[in-house]
Amino acid sequence: MESLAARMKAANSLLAPYAVPHGGELGRRHSEEEDPTRFPFQRDRDRIVSTDAFRRLAGKMQVLPPGFSDHIRNRGTHTIETANLSRTIARALRLNEDLAECIALAHDIGHPPFGHSGEEALNESHEGGFEHNAQSLRIVTLLEQHSDAYTGINLSIEILEGMVKHRKNEHGIPRSLSLEAQIVDLADAATYTAHDIEDGLDAKILSLESIRSTDFGERAVARAKERSTRLRGGVLDLLMTDLYTKTERCIRAFGIQSLADVYSANDLCVSFSDGLDASLRELRQFLWDHFYLHPTVREKAQEGMRIVTKLYEAYRKNPPEKVIVLQRRTDSDLLDAVKDYIAGMTDEFAAEAHSRL
Ligand code: MG
Repeated sequence: MESLAARMKAANSLLAPYAVPHGGELGRRHSEEEDPTRFPFQRDRDRIVSTDAFRRLAGKMQVLPPGFSDHIRNRGTHTIETANLSRTIARALRLNEDLAECIALAHDIGHPPFGHSGEEALNESHEGGFEHNAQSLRIVTLLEQHSDAYTGINLSIEILEGMVKHRKNEHGIPRSLSLEAQIVDLADAATYTAHDIEDGLDAKILSLESIRSTDFGERAVARAKERSTRLRGGVLDLLMTDLYTKTERCIRAFGIQSLADVYSANDLCVSFSDGLDASLRELRQFLWDHFYLHPTVREKAQEGMRIVTKLYEAYRKNPPEKVIVLQRRTDSDLLDAVKDYIAGMTDEFAAEAHSRL
């Protein structure tokens, strides 16, 4: 096998000059020796998918709980789809696929049970509030264990910045994100838009006619027909065609020629055109009105909120042994450990714990 340095050099020569190079530039919080065979971001990917928190995503609902159909997305499958699309976009734009994949695999790792309703409940119950991006960062920097030498899994800094969606320079001044991090944000939105439509149809909560009442829906249906694919393919094709054109135009307009240019840019480059963005917003509003706030979905969401709120109230008064162990191991405040424990639960585990209160 060729040396890691030789392979990394060959791989870097295929990247655009403004991509994050395979070796990364910012290192890790705790310095470590290079792995002899894997590139640093490949190593990060292995660490992310080996966490308990990553595996638990399979037991956390996205919009609908299991039971509506065997094909409904959960947070784990949503994550896989987001990572796939992130890789696809990164490759098309000659950006770093491994880095985009890592950020995507970790982007929802801090999501609590019961989707956004679980997040809302924890945010209301916990004094410091709750936000899943911050929790994702806490998981990979503190809660998960990889080595006796440090807490967390010691990911490359480029991944941490992509997860929290902001970056600062050495003087604490905010800077723009890598194009790889920007990709994941849009891939996430494209993925959930495409699969929520599909899940809504599958659960018979949405109808094709109602989706076609929106400008975006009508165009996506036409595109799917042209390409002889399912509607999801039409949605993604519309979004990606627009994203590639707009992003390449933006890279040229901003005069981006290096990674330093990316970081010092005044605005994000990976984006949809204004026209598509407006029609996507109309579709998102439609999904809120007709899917996320549909009485059947709302009822499940409220049940999830009740469970999370009750668990928090019970555990803050009477913390179970597991919370105490977690608190000691992570040197946290008791209430933070209560929040961490509940946020880590799968839907089923939370419902079961609630039934035992
Ligand atoms: Mg997501």
